[in-house]
Amino acid sequence: MRSRLVFIAILLFASAFEPAVRPEQRSAILLSWDGAGGGRVRANLAAGKLPHLARLVGEGALVDVEVTGHGTDTKPGHAQMLTGYDPSLTGVYSNGRFRPIPRGYSIFERLHQTFGKNGLATIMVTGKSGNLGSQSPEGSNGEPFSLARSSITVWDGDQIRPARLVGEHALRHLGRYAPKGRFFMFVHFADVDVAGHTFGEDSTAYDLALGECDAWLGKILAALATAGASERTLVYVTADHGFDKRAKRHTAATHIFLATNDPRVARGGEQRDIAPTILSALGVDLTKLTPPLPGRVLAK
Ligand SMILES: [Zn+2]
Repeated sequence: MRSRLVFIAILLFASAFEPAVRPEQRSAILLSWDGAGGGRVRANLAAGKLPHLARLVGEGALVDVEVTGHGTDTKPGHAQMLTGYDPSLTGVYSNGRFRPIPRGYSIFERLHQTFGKNGLATIMVTGKSGNLGSQSPEGSNGEPFSLARSSITVWDGDQIRPARLVGEHALRHLGRYAPKGRFFMFVHFADVDVAGHTFGEDSTAYDLALGECDAWLGKILAALATAGASERTLVYVTADHGFDKRAKRHTAATHIFLATNDPRVARGGEQRDIAPTILSALGVDLTKLTPPLPGRVLAK
């Protein structure tokens, strides 16, 4: 009886990722803080203003990531983050030069190819339309996710909305999918980017937006614990691009970051390394992917 009570207590209070859970049983959440530069994230973390990110990093790592091979804007940043491929394969070079990402290349589709549609639910929630959109109006090129969309279990995008709404939707999806089985959820927060364009990279508003993203990270971690899914869920936080220092633009903003509770992550790298890091953590055999991913897992 006593051991059973102890067991229940451990289940209730266990809210950290358990590395012994096999990759084929894990879930993952990828959060994109649009326009969050690595330098400002580290400064706010050091100032104690990102407590939930600090807790996540305490279980895993915070590493420096460089955006390489494409413009530092939203479309190519997310296309590479969510596929691992360079623009020569995705066709997404910049916000102005793009085409739909070819079928089958996204993390969502790779997971379904490996584990089946019923083996894992995929969810995409965004705070911007267009640059992360799925629309394909007649006569237009088609937005980056217009071909991937039909393969994603829950498409919750094509809307411009603040962290409060994006976060609430993410919690709703978690409440539905996290208690049951495996899932991969991508959540995009636009607020840091919006604050940077409006008030500048060195503004209080930019730091406050980072703080709001951190508060939502806290709520997401709490929702995982409530669902009993903390031990089997990896959480990754990154950005599509950084921000030019003391400016309201991000034309040469290559410095970003990856924060995670994934204990394997042990070195910095490039944005193209994020997708293989997540796919391998979830049990996808990278050697079987065609075309081969150019990036490397961010492990030692
Ligand atoms: Zn922007």
